[in-house]
Amino acid sequence: MSKVKKTLTFYESVENYFEKAAPHTGLERGLLDQIRVCNAVYAIRFPVEVRDKKTGALRVQVIEAYRVQHSHHRLPTKGGIRYSNHVNQDEVMALATLMSYKCAIVHVPFGGAKGGVRINPWDYDEETLEKITRRYTYELVRRNFIGPSIDVPAPDYGTGQREMAWIYDTYRTLRENELDAAGCVTGKPVNQFGIRGRTEATGRGVFYGLRQACDHAEDMKKLGLEPGIAGKKVVIQGFGNVGSYSAQIAQEEGDAVIIAVGEADGYIYNEKGINVQKLIQVKAETGSIMNYADAKKFPKEERGHVLELECDILIPAALEEVININNAKNIKAKIIAEAANGPVTSPAEEILLKKGTLIIPDVYLNAGGVTVSYFEWLKNLSHMRFGRMDKRYRAQGREDMIALIEQMTGRKAPVEIVSKFVKGADEVDLVRSGLEESMINAYNFTRNIQKEKNIDLRTAAFVNAIQLIGQDYQSMGIFP
Ligand code: GLU
Repeated sequence: MSKVKKTLTFYESVENYFEKAAPHTGLERGLLDQIRVCNAVYAIRFPVEVRDKKTGALRVQVIEAYRVQHSHHRLPTKGGIRYSNHVNQDEVMALATLMSYKCAIVHVPFGGAKGGVRINPWDYDEETLEKITRRYTYELVRRNFIGPSIDVPAPDYGTGQREMAWIYDTYRTLRENELDAAGCVTGKPVNQFGIRGRTEATGRGVFYGLRQACDHAEDMKKLGLEPGIAGKKVVIQGFGNVGSYSAQIAQEEGDAVIIAVGEADGYIYNEKGINVQKLIQVKAETGSIMNYADAKKFPKEERGHVLELECDILIPAALEEVININNAKNIKAKIIAEAANGPVTSPAEEILLKKGTLIIPDVYLNAGGVTVSYFEWLKNLSHMRFGRMDKRYRAQGREDMIALIEQMTGRKAPVEIVSKFVKGADEVDLVRSGLEESMINAYNFTRNIQKEKNIDLRTAAFVNAIQLIGQDYQSMGIFP
């Protein structure tokens, strides 16, 4: 009987990426194993009385949930909480693992973690979601799996500011005397100790990373493309938080042309470009991108084809494994920008690399979210908004400087220039600037490893992450 080769799980795919990078790191097997494994896996089942959305009847449901801390080389551990009915232990382990590498690559001093609750959040009313979130948080507190210096969750697929506010409120109720309690979770609403610029952060980071990749003329030439993101034809798969901000910022700040957007209920296409601002509004008002007027529509059954369209850049921005062994050969994009976590499986990547596709990997490209989470956590620990101390002081210094120049030259500086130059930085300006700096540096560093070792960009990103985590373990004196 011939043995049927089973397809890889998400976690196995991530392990494959690790093993591909390992020989390039120069680290010993024992240390590599310590870096690779998940340090702590917490699987929980708890009952919650849920309301049936259609009938309104109450029933008790046993909820399956997880929190995985992949690496304790730095603390706290950090990573989002996902609500989806695809959640399982393998998936959460894979996502927690990616978080460790992601944090290392953008120099965010956290270990990686991830949480998941196996529910379809759109099937429940707000009251039920609140009950589930509070109970899940309580379970984490009980086992010491959450806290500003232990493990700090954040939003992920199916969760957002609202859930983070519930988590914070549950935590501080149980830990009344903890001064830094607000740092137990990030991605909170701004009026609940959140930070300006966190909601858009992953999408904005995707834009900065993509723009940086497109600015390397030599790399673009290999793909038969002109340097620069402006004018590039972009396809977006998934129009949630990450997809919509990536699209909007790429269009408004990068002059990219968004030719297609796909979601679970179909995709829309317009070669001349879709107005992303308008599309966001249509989705918010009607619940579906399919109600956007100025584009061709393709139904639910054909939604997978959005990935196979002719374009310069494909941005998968929803869930994992959408580009796999079945469709990899049909992908025509020259650049795949992984805004989602794990959208390309490792066997699919081999096919794409042979075709010469440039894949900008998730562990780097979607790190904007956790980077700004880091800023939020710092803000929570410092108990002060960024810019509060020095904004006016700096603005005054610049005004004085202009006055001095005007006095010395006898000429008046143009008002528009003065107002731009004099304005001190607000919190959101500082957040964006810190994010841009992190994304640009990390890209260039990863690209240098790629060139030096003649490997692909994902392997280079893994090499970088593994070496950085390895250095931490070595400096603890456990490994030689
Ligand atoms: N869930 C996001 C991610 O996968 C953000 C994690 C965080 O901010 O901690 O990167």
